[in-house]
Amino acid sequence: MSEANLDADFFVRWLTAVAGLVDREAERLTELDSAIGDADHGSNMQRGFAAVATALTAAPPATPGAVLTTAGRQLISTVGGASGPLYGTLLRRTGKSLGGAPQVTAAELRAGLTAGVAAVGELGCSQTGDKTMLDALVPGVEALATSFDAAATASEEGALATVPIRAKKGRASYLGERSIGHQDPGATSSALLFAALAAVAR
Ligand SMILES: [Mg+2]
Repeated sequence: MSEANLDADFFVRWLTAVAGLVDREAERLTELDSAIGDADHGSNMQRGFAAVATALTAAPPATPGAVLTTAGRQLISTVGGASGPLYGTLLRRTGKSLGGAPQVTAAELRAGLTAGVAAVGELGCSQTGDKTMLDALVPGVEALATSFDAAATASEEGALATVPIRAKKGRASYLGERSIGHQDPGATSSALLFAALAAVAR
């Protein structure tokens, strides 16, 4: 893992890259959500991360922690349904964990994200294997111990691995057996976080 310190600008570039990827993948996210949800995940994420990018560009926060908490607030206030609070909690808790440091190491980011992901699990009363965001987030954060690229790969594999799972949480769980055979939209969008992180770190 790189020893380079990550400053507020790096975090702004990360979340702006997430907005770009979400924009590019919005149609696919909505397609996945139309199979086992209510067909709004792409547009919800697009609206939320566009607001994040706008807020961070208009007034770039001074620390990594403030970048993440600002982004989390934007997601909570602009994204309806479950995704806004879940993504918002992920970023706010991670940001809170990073505190007021002007720069953080990749190891500190991993520790922060570990706290953020735990908060998502608490809020959703869910764990890995439930066919949720956690199926991409947990392996992604674990693989951050190796590298940003490894995290991108692991989270993408985690999202793909949701296909044969029967959903136990979220709207998809109402479908029971019929949720089997479809990739989880939340895990799919969660993997974009790590894809963007790897791209910005390269
Ligand atoms: Mg939905």
